[in-house]
Amino acid sequence: MKITESILALEEQIKALLEELAEIKMQVYALEEKNEQVLSKVYRSSEIQGHGNLQELYEEGFHICPEHFAQIRDVSQDCLFCLSFLSEVRGKAYE
Ligand SMILES: [Zn+2]
Repeated sequence: MKITESILALEEQIKALLEELAEIKMQVYALEEKNEQVLSKVYRSSEIQGHGNLQELYEEGFHICPEHFAQIRDVSQDCLFCLSFLSEVRGKAYE
């Protein structure tokens, strides 16, 4: 293969990668939007219904912290992020 041909092939690969990257960027953007909607729903529902629901979710074994929201947690250990999030929400409720 001539060098020119190799360069052309490389250029094609780069183009394909850039296209893939653009697609991934769009997917990340969509996920970030969705994440923001979910978070604002959580904040809103905790404002409306108090922190009871969040506490319940946490006790049922789900993370309520923004870091791992809605993921299953190890119930034998407390999650520090969840606990600080709960106390933050409680603090807001009593402001
Ligand atoms: Zn957590």
